Amino acid sequence: MKIFCVGRNYVDHAKELGNAIPEEPVIFMKPKSALLKANSPFYYPEFSNELHYEIELVLRIAKNGKYVPEKQADKYVDAITVGIDFTARDVQSELKNKGLPWEKAKAWDNSAIVGQWIPLELERLKKPFLFTLRKNGEVVQQGDSSLMIYPFNHIISHISSYFSLNIGDLLFTGTPAGVGECVVGDVLEGFIEDERLFELEIK
Ligand code: ZN
Repeated sequence: MKIFCVGRNYVDHAKELGNAIPEEPVIFMKPKSALLKANSPFYYPEFSNELHYEIELVLRIAKNGKYVPEKQADKYVDAITVGIDFTARDVQSELKNKGLPWEKAKAWDNSAIVGQWIPLELERLKKPFLFTLRKNGEVVQQGDSSLMIYPFNHIISHISSYFSLNIGDLLFTGTPAGVGECVVGDVLEGFIEDERLFELEIK
């Protein structure tokens, strides 16, 4: 199982971190060991002093494929949820400054959280998804998939021209503006519309 992630897929988020709007999707990956198992505790990583949440819509790949045309791309997805692409922002800033890869900042154990899956009808993918992250009860991030720079079908097609898609792969589709820090004791809750799909306490 692979975890694909899209960076800088919302204009407001690219700007808040001082990044240029990308000319093609920015893709990175997390290994299988980055996925937090259901009902396991999440611990603040000891190598960071600046842990950031990034709420993202996550798609589940339901079909093996390569070189998937955009028009066919929605057939490769069978469920959606929200998740967190946890990022050690201090580590990432250092790596970015040196022009080095991001894995130490983004791909560590348990850095990927996914909520409960919502099965997807093909038609549903065409309408926007509104999603929200609450921290300690307060809304800290809100996203609308219609504001993505690269929509679902483009991302799937683009990724599949480099990497095989396999059943069970996950695709984090990028975070909207409002990323920020969390500390031990914070409780994060992710929603699509008003359906709560995960709750996580930082230990
Ligand atoms: Zn992200």
